[in-house]
Amino acid sequence: MTTPDASPAPSVVTRFAPSPTGELHVGGARTALFSWAYARRHGGRFLLRFEDTDQKRSSRAAEQNILRDLHWLGLEGDNEGDANAQGIPRQSERLDIYHAALAKLAAAGHTYDDDGAVRFRMGKDVSFTDAVYGDVTVPGADLEDFVIQKADGFPTFHLAVVVDDADMGVTHVIRGQEHLANTPKHAALYDALGQPRPVWCHTPSILNPDGSKMSKRDKAKAARKYLKAHPASLKDIIEQHQEAIGQISTNAHNTIQSGKVIPENKRLSPADFQTFLDGVTDAPAVAEAVARHSELSLPEINVADFQSSGYTPAVLLNYLALLGWNPGDDVERFDLDFLAAHFDFERIGKSNSKFDRDKLAAFSQDDILALEPAVWAQRLEAHFTTRFPEYVEKLGSGFPVFAAAYQERSKTLNDPSVLGRFFVEAPTAYNAKAVKKNLTKNHGEGLGNLGSLRDKLAAHDDWSAASLHALIDGAWEALGGKNMGALAQPLRVALTGAAVSPEIGPTLEILGRNETLARIDACLAAHAS
Ligand code: GLU
Repeated sequence: MTTPDASPAPSVVTRFAPSPTGELHVGGARTALFSWAYARRHGGRFLLRFEDTDQKRSSRAAEQNILRDLHWLGLEGDNEGDANAQGIPRQSERLDIYHAALAKLAAAGHTYDDDGAVRFRMGKDVSFTDAVYGDVTVPGADLEDFVIQKADGFPTFHLAVVVDDADMGVTHVIRGQEHLANTPKHAALYDALGQPRPVWCHTPSILNPDGSKMSKRDKAKAARKYLKAHPASLKDIIEQHQEAIGQISTNAHNTIQSGKVIPENKRLSPADFQTFLDGVTDAPAVAEAVARHSELSLPEINVADFQSSGYTPAVLLNYLALLGWNPGDDVERFDLDFLAAHFDFERIGKSNSKFDRDKLAAFSQDDILALEPAVWAQRLEAHFTTRFPEYVEKLGSGFPVFAAAYQERSKTLNDPSVLGRFFVEAPTAYNAKAVKKNLTKNHGEGLGNLGSLRDKLAAHDDWSAASLHALIDGAWEALGGKNMGALAQPLRVALTGAAVSPEIGPTLEILGRNETLARIDACLAAHAS
């Protein structure tokens, strides 16, 4: 006799259910990551849902941005349905379903009307088990009746989340620990609806190093602090902003400066800046405008900020997974496949994690160092094509040389845009120390050498790195070969404004003859006595 197979355990279904009221925050990204990983680990499904019951604050644009960021991270949902809406349910389009659930609850005596709203009756003690925080019991005396349908006919979050999770067959609810306090309500609703409860897994919070919440307010704080420390800069910033919006580009990325987190360019009035400075508003658009037109870099908070700062999804996900989860065995570096194979609830800690930007940058630097030079060059070029197109245009086929020059010194894909700025911008000022040391010292020895090198370069036919290197080598020997720096360093000052550049041959090749000679002439003119 053959025994029939035991009925299979219900397959795992997890979900990520953001409210589309803003950008995808790193905390949300980690929730999505854990939900994705748990489903993959158990061969289940990972679903997406938009919780847009707060109609005033929700927008389609926010939905699109969240999807864009999830896609960038590689966390695709398994929703089935029409491609247009990607099969992702929106709570605002499911009102009938909530009304039906409400009718059922009302018929069983669980609800009562209260000023046009509908409340759910609590009263009994509620116990549940959380995968991270363990057994929780809340005495009935501490549980108030709560609104499940607002006077406008919309369900509250509590009703919608329970009805949807039950309807979508969600078996494991993974979400931030700020929802732990809501869970007794949800447990009571499941019971009243006669639906099996899911497994709850609440994850500890991600905080700033100082223990504060990581929020978009941090950007406002940073910008306000900058404005207070540089009061004179406000006028310039406002002027530059007015100019920039005068010629607003359809591609906001074109207006981004090196190494800055500045997603959008919104139209602001001088009064907007003033109210921001006075602390009346924390408008992110003002913080972004301040950063765009000053030295300030804003702290990254959202996934898009980290992308904009030049982090790769792999590095960000790896780092986010470690904020709360610990693979054990001192493993620190891993990818999505590893998570899909190993992620579990047991190794999620209860204590909140601090977001350490230095550690993230160190992860990123390690990754960059480990890349094959050709892969690094490709990746950098792809990033620069959207973020800093002027480099791609200017460097042309010299891009890999540029990339190679900065591989060892880059922590992010943005760094070469700061380190190698001189490739796209001629120096407008010269570092005084570098000038003294390399040009004017010893009665202008460096300037003299630069002048004679200029003539040799002007007469040189083969403008390739190797040939240019040989030229400078030869000229150096002609000078008695005492000190290669006597030639290369003055040249660097002329080309970059300071004494640092990649190898001189490739640097010259990339800049090209005209630009090289023009910069030498400008430098000689600036220092002629
Ligand atoms: N929409 C809720 C939020 O963004 C999700 C809550 C849940 O995951 O149950 O916080």
